[in-house]
Amino acid sequence: MYKDVQLHINGRWRAASKGQTIPVLNPATEEQIGTVPHATEADLDEALSAAEHGFGVWKKVSAFERSKLMRKAADLLRERADSIARLMTMEQGKPLAEARAETMAAADTIDWFAEEARRAYGRVVPARAEGVYQLVIKEPVGPVAAFTPWNFPINQVVRKLSAALATGCSIIVKAPEETPASPAELIRCFLDAGLPPGVVGLVYGVPAEISSYLIPHPAIRKVTFTGSTPVGKHLAEMAGKYMKRVTMELGGHAPAIVFDDADIDHASKTLAGSKFRNAGQVCVSPTRFLVQEKVFDRFVEQFVDYAKSVRVGNGLEDGVQMGPLANDRRVPAMEALIADAQQKGAQIRTGGNRIGNKGYFYEPTVLTGLTHEMRAMNEEPFGPLALMVPFRDFDEVVEESNRLPFGLAAYAFTKSAKTANAIASQVETGMMTINHLGLALPEVPFGGIKDSGYGSEGGSEAIEAYLNTKFVTQAGI
Ligand code: NAD
Repeated sequence: MYKDVQLHINGRWRAASKGQTIPVLNPATEEQIGTVPHATEADLDEALSAAEHGFGVWKKVSAFERSKLMRKAADLLRERADSIARLMTMEQGKPLAEARAETMAAADTIDWFAEEARRAYGRVVPARAEGVYQLVIKEPVGPVAAFTPWNFPINQVVRKLSAALATGCSIIVKAPEETPASPAELIRCFLDAGLPPGVVGLVYGVPAEISSYLIPHPAIRKVTFTGSTPVGKHLAEMAGKYMKRVTMELGGHAPAIVFDDADIDHASKTLAGSKFRNAGQVCVSPTRFLVQEKVFDRFVEQFVDYAKSVRVGNGLEDGVQMGPLANDRRVPAMEALIADAQQKGAQIRTGGNRIGNKGYFYEPTVLTGLTHEMRAMNEEPFGPLALMVPFRDFDEVVEESNRLPFGLAAYAFTKSAKTANAIASQVETGMMTINHLGLALPEVPFGGIKDSGYGSEGGSEAIEAYLNTKFVTQAGI
C-alpha cells in the first residue's frame, strides 16, 4: 500500500522530467518500499513560475475564504489520519500511535492558523494633522521556499505550510526524501479542499541542489528551514546574500534540570518518556539531565529502569514504544558518540548497542561519568541517548545549561516557585517547560536562540514571519 511518491507542480502530480528517482527504505526492515522523484532544474523552474502565478491568485482570495479552505483540509486530514499514519510509520519508523498523534496534531495546527488568517490585522496610527490617516498594512511576503526534515514528516511541513497559506503566500515545499509519502498526503488534503494550482508546490531531490537553486531565485521572497545548525547557517548565509526573509529552526542540546526539591518520581517518568519519543530524534528532546547531587542516584536509577522497560520494535506492531532510528546515518552517529564517551571514561548504565542487524534499531541508552571533553556533551545526539550529570547548586546548573552555543528548549523540575522563576529567567533558551511537558502547541511560540536559529513557528509570531509591513499615509484633499 506504500505507493511511489510524485512531485506536485503547477496543479499536477507527476514524475521528474528526466524520470530519475531515489529509493525510499523502511528503517525497520531496510527494504525498499517505494521511490521518490529527483526533481531537475526544469522541474524547479516550472515550480517557481507556478508559485509566482499561484501567489497572484491566492493573495487576492479573502482571508475569510482562505480560512474556510484550510479548515476543510484539516477535516480531510483527520478523516485520513489512519492511513497516513501507516505510511509515516513505514517510511520513518516511529510507532503507529505517535504517527497518528502527529497527523491529528497537524490538523489542529491547520485549524489554528486558519483562525489566525482572519486576524492578521494592521493598525491605524493617530496622525499629527487633521484629515491624515496613517495606516499600517500587513501583506503576504510572497512565494516561500520551505525545507523540512525527516523526524516529523508532517509536523515540520504543516507549520510552514499553514502560516504561508493563512497569510496569502504561495509555497514550494522541499520535503524529506527519506520520508516523502506522509507530507505528500498532507498536501493532497489541501488540494482536495480546493487549493488553486500553483499555490503549493512539492519537490524532492538532492537537498543542496534544490536549496542553491531556489534560495537565490528572484521569485522566492522567504526561506524557512528546519534541520541541523551547520546546514541552517549555510542556508541563512545564502539567503542573506540575496536579502531573503528567513526562519531557522535548528539543533538543540536541551538541559533538563532536576532540583532536589522536585517530585522525583514525576520528573523521571516525564523526562524519560519524552527522551525516548521518536527514538530521541527530536530537536527539543531533553539531552543533558542535570540533577542535583542529593537526588542524583535515585533519579538515575528510576530513569534507567524506565529505559530498560521501553519496548523497541517495528512501529507497526502493537505495544511497541520506540521504533528504529530513521535512517542508516543515525546508527553510526550513535555508535561514534557512545564509543567516544566510553573511551574517555563514561559508564554505560543501560543500552549502548545496536539491536539485531536488520533495521536501524538502537537500545535506549543512559550514560553517567560524563565530562565536557566528550563529544556527546557538546554535539546534538539526535537519538535515544540520555546524559546524566550531577550538579551542586543553582549557579553551577545555570552555567552548565548555558555552556553550549545552542538555545532551543530547556526543562526544569522544582516545587519552589522562586526557583522556577529564577531558572526560567537565567537559562538562555527559546522555550522553557517547568514541571510538565508543554512545548510545541500551535498557539504558543516555537523557536530557538543562539545557534538554534531565529524566528518562531508557533503563536502569532509565526504569522508575522510571513507578512510584510507596509505603511500608507493619506491626507484628505
Ligand atoms: P543533515 O545535516 O545533512 O540534514 C538535516 C536536514 O537538512 C535534512 O532534512 C536534509 O535533507 C536537509 N539538508 C541538508 N543539506 C541541505 C541543503 N544544502 N539544503 C537544504 N536542505 C538540506 O543531517 P541528517 O543526517 O539528515 O540529520 C542529522 C542532523 O540533523 C541531526 O543530528 C540533527 O542535528 C539535525 N536535524 C534536526 C532536525 C530538527 O528538527 N531541528 C531534524 C532533522 C535533523
